[in-house]
Amino acid sequence: MAQWLEYCLAAKPEKLDGLTARLTANGAEGLVIEDEQDFRRFLEDNRQYWDYVDEELEKRMTGVAQVKFYVPATDDGRAEAEGYLAGLTDVSVTITPMEEEDWANGWKKYYQPLEIGKRLYVVPEWLPHQAPAGRVSLILNPGLTFGTGAHPTTQLCLEEVERYAAEGQRVLDLGCGSGILSIAALKLGADYALGVDIDPKAPDVARENGELNGVSPESYRLLAGDVLGDKSLQTELAGRPWDLILANIVADVIIPLSGMVGPWLAKGGRFLCAGIIDTRAGEVRAALEGNGFIIEDALERKGWCAFACRRAGEGSA
Ligand code: SAH
Repeated sequence: MAQWLEYCLAAKPEKLDGLTARLTANGAEGLVIEDEQDFRRFLEDNRQYWDYVDEELEKRMTGVAQVKFYVPATDDGRAEAEGYLAGLTDVSVTITPMEEEDWANGWKKYYQPLEIGKRLYVVPEWLPHQAPAGRVSLILNPGLTFGTGAHPTTQLCLEEVERYAAEGQRVLDLGCGSGILSIAALKLGADYALGVDIDPKAPDVARENGELNGVSPESYRLLAGDVLGDKSLQTELAGRPWDLILANIVADVIIPLSGMVGPWLAKGGRFLCAGIIDTRAGEVRAALEGNGFIIEDALERKGWCAFACRRAGEGSA
């Protein structure tokens, strides 16, 4: 039996504010407003992440201007909803029955365990953690950060991490988000990792994910900061050489990083970069080569590219 009813009211974008105000005046609470124009504005304000936007979400928001509210699936609930809708004409209402689960935790449905590469098993915290034979579980609760493992660019990166991570390494994870890449490296044998993200929520989320995976706090340090803009952060990152530097961000960040991170690498160390939309792969390749890198691996999946490279003139480690 459904426990809740979702009332979804579609409106012309310019009528959305008025509709929301009327519902509020009628006593409706907890309104969920979905507006493509707001979404587009959000994208515009966050242009540096633009090519990273989830295409499914973009598709879902196209042409959308609607407001939703929820009431219990009882006669009282229906009467309550009628009260909220009083006097509203010229809107189309769709009523959908929902389970408690769907409503509170609907997003969790979209995260299933993922077998990645040959050795990894990315599993959400709320599902059984047992990995299939021969695989290492990477337990994650991404919360409100990037890095669920579901995006093709993260998968490419994880495959590269699987290929290049080795016992005893020191790993730098630029744009660590949920920590998925550095935690994978630690679980595959690395000794120490440092994760950095411009999003102030990320270090706490990554730290908690590290704990979920039994990573000791001494071997996993996390910092918030802008790796391109913060000079003192750069000095700190440059302080000791890294065997692996990971950056799954976007072309506009990878290109300037390619001119920075070479000297931060240990001899024979590798720079693994991804988040590069295919139309910009040529530009990124040129920047990497122009900055003295040799590209060892170039991967592409669903329009996303990743490069594994090392410094020219060092020979393969
Ligand atoms: N490493 C995760 C998340 C990648 S999303 C994964 O592979 O799935 C890219 C991340 O880079 C985001 O969390 C974003 O906040 C961060 N980021 C973008 N620009 C940055 C910058 N200049 N400095 C530090 N982090 C940055």
